[in-house]
Amino acid sequence: MPKYSDKPCARCGKMMLHAYCSQRYCKACALLVRSDDAIISRAKQRSRRARSEIARVNALARAEGKTYGCYVALHEPRKG
Ligand SMILES: [Zn+2]
Repeated sequence: MPKYSDKPCARCGKMMLHAYCSQRYCKACALLVRSDDAIISRAKQRSRRARSEIARVNALARAEGKTYGCYVALHEPRKG
């Protein structure tokens, strides 16, 4: 039996009702956290050059009040 409980989102603190026990973020934050952290942590494993590029784009994105994932989606054409 999965366990559900009410607990706050680890990112925005919004109360999640009947959240699954392993759920850390509300739906809105889960998307952001996944896209940002996943992209950045993946990039960290690449070359230093790629890392600095990610940091540069991330800084630009923050300056526009966007997340990294959102910024890239808007400014770079989709590959493949
Ligand atoms: Zn949240």
